[in-house]
Amino acid sequence: MSEHPSSALFSSSSGQGESYLARLNPEQRAAIETTDGPLLVLAGAGTGKTRVLTTRFAHILLTNRAKPWQILAVTFTNKAAKEMRERVSLLLGNPAEGLWLGTFHALCARMLRRHADYVGLTSSFTILDTDDQLRLLKQIIAPFQIDTKRWPAPGILGVIQRWKDRGLTPERVTDSEDSDFADGHCRAIYRAYQERLIQLNACDFGDLMLHVTEILRTRPDVQAQYQRLFRYILVDEYQDTNTVQYLWLRLLALRPGEPANICCVGDDDQSIYSWRGAQVGNILRFEKDFPGAHIVRLERNYRSTRHILGAAAGLIAHNDERLGKTLRSGREDSDGEKVLVVGVSDSDHEARDVCAMAEKMQRDGHSLAEMAILVRAGFQTRAFEEKLVQSGVPYRIVGGVRFYERAEIRDALAYMRVLSQPADDLAFERILNTPKRGMGPAGVQKLHAAARSHQVPLTTATRTLLAEKVLKGKVGDQVQELVNALDTTRDILAREGHVVAVEHLLEASGYLAMWQADTSPEAPGRLENLKELVRALADFGTLGEFLEHVALVMEHDENAGDARISLMTLHGAKGLEFDVVFLPGWEEGVFPSQRTLDEGGNSGLEEERRLAYVGITRARKHAMIFHAARRRVYANWQDSIPSRFLDELPDEHVIRQEERDASHRARHLSDSVFVGGAPLVARRRRDPLAGNTPSFQLGERVRHPRFGEGIIVSADHHHVDVAFEGLGIKHLLTSFLEKL
Ligand code: ATP
Ligand code: MG
Repeated sequence: MSEHPSSALFSSSSGQGESYLARLNPEQRAAIETTDGPLLVLAGAGTGKTRVLTTRFAHILLTNRAKPWQILAVTFTNKAAKEMRERVSLLLGNPAEGLWLGTFHALCARMLRRHADYVGLTSSFTILDTDDQLRLLKQIIAPFQIDTKRWPAPGILGVIQRWKDRGLTPERVTDSEDSDFADGHCRAIYRAYQERLIQLNACDFGDLMLHVTEILRTRPDVQAQYQRLFRYILVDEYQDTNTVQYLWLRLLALRPGEPANICCVGDDDQSIYSWRGAQVGNILRFEKDFPGAHIVRLERNYRSTRHILGAAAGLIAHNDERLGKTLRSGREDSDGEKVLVVGVSDSDHEARDVCAMAEKMQRDGHSLAEMAILVRAGFQTRAFEEKLVQSGVPYRIVGGVRFYERAEIRDALAYMRVLSQPADDLAFERILNTPKRGMGPAGVQKLHAAARSHQVPLTTATRTLLAEKVLKGKVGDQVQELVNALDTTRDILAREGHVVAVEHLLEASGYLAMWQADTSPEAPGRLENLKELVRALADFGTLGEFLEHVALVMEHDENAGDARISLMTLHGAKGLEFDVVFLPGWEEGVFPSQRTLDEGGNSGLEEERRLAYVGITRARKHAMIFHAARRRVYANWQDSIPSRFLDELPDEHVIRQEERDASHRARHLSDSVFVGGAPLVARRRRDPLAGNTPSFQLGERVRHPRFGEGIIVSADHHHVDVAFEGLGIKHLLTSFLEKL
């Protein structure tokens, strides 16, 4: 988004002249004119790294150093690849085709199609999604005698993926490493999994890089062919490359007897993907890996005003692990506005205020297209989506799916629909085999046939087939459990209301357990989203009202074309820029995330701080940070502590505002925020839907979202009996209990 494709970058340079160089500062120019030999551009946010890369692409073509297809250009997202392609097309005066320009995965997929036979695949191999991967892996694991409670399939898949990120084929996994996982069976499982994939003529995402790297390693002829082809290599966001990507680059760039014409641009302060195996150390090793490397530093930031830069620089200075760079404003206009830090009373007000502020900015002449709301975690988007819909502000979700369209949310909504309307066949079909209950397409067909012949809903037909023992065995038992869960939930719905009922249904149906057992990187986010969904439920009087509301929000459709505000995660905003940036949720436990706090240690915290730095430096003119004094957790409110990052922002670049709203204050106090005189803030919060179910001890004090505080009087693995004052003893599932 840094520049519109029709910008002036190339418009005056259609093949002749060097006017495109005139728009660069001397350091940027040097980075472009040192065309041959390895080059690292190490520079802070907004200093024109991406612009250097794009201009370099142009320069190589305009000076006839290479043909368009002889340049290998790696971008971090498909969107960035598209932008670069458009600029190059503009330059060439016709659509650029055959360019080797894209993400690591896209480029590798293309190479692998050409050489698939070297690894035993054919060029029409399929790329599996996570579901397929897991299904396959479970079949592989079955004959191995491993403790699947400790080592569930998604966990093993995670281990395999990390090995792949590091370029380790099964042969390269060492004994000592193997012994760390799944009782020492993981490497054997990995090997069997890889063999099975080949039999299926399939590969997973990680294989794209791994196979190609392996081919380049073992087939010198293929390696030489690509080394001859790619006369220049360009890499954006180098700080976020992982080991296998790095190996791949080296195999292509290090040509015998010739300089490595590789140009990488990056910023160690923006390294935010270590959880996916990215190695910021790759930047530090550049000079050693590519002998004769030049290093260019860019110090002028052209994106942000002086205050925005000052705030970001002050924040990132709190990290110890950094190379240290100078960054000064290259913008000649005034200092601009200070960064605004707004404290609001609660998370609802936060969404409301951000919307109102966006509308005000729009009235002041800013286009919505130049505004973004950047959140730490996906679950935060729901509140904003709803407020945006309510106020009729057009928005788009970037790099993600709208909240109510996410798979886990649609699943949970399907459970609720069946609860509220047993005849909802579509919803029932969705939940019938989610989680897996052994109901294949044939089984579902049978149910449909029975339903049709008796003219009853699917749920009724299911009950009949169960009663008549047509549906029996293991599948029958599992489906019976679902039916039972629905029945008990209906009782709870009548007695205790929709929030508790839905919690119960998600738990008793095994749906939550499915995600809790899932150790893929997306699983915690999905659990957060489910928690957020339950939170939203509490805003409505009945389940029916809630479902109607959701239907209305989902219907709000996007008219392509008009300007809209972008809503996305901080991770997704890398490399982008906007005039106005809203940064909500700067509270301990949200940002930095609870997981980082739970893990302890400095490195996670430093990564969160880099993410905050990325957030602030996306803004050109206005950056506004929000924190709420209370955030809703289910039906209750919980006090939050402002993020430590707020204290780290230098005062001279920041204006701090507290929203003082007496009526809300009063309401806070009447809620159960204070228990026994001590504010809840002091207590470490437990995430009720976190991966592991906590174990509870007799006599332990707990809190339930509905019943309040109580004491455990008996406990087994998933259930506990809790005595609540005035309410007696209740038999409850542990997932929704919070330890006190
Ligand atoms: P990030 O680290 O966030 O990826 P970056 O270093 O890649 O940032 P760019 O996106 O290339 O920075 O540039 C930031 C902004 O500054 C863009 O709008 C770009 O067009 C502008 N810019 C870059 N160099 C110059 C220059 N020499 N003169 C004027 N504007 C410039
Ligand atoms: Mg960039």
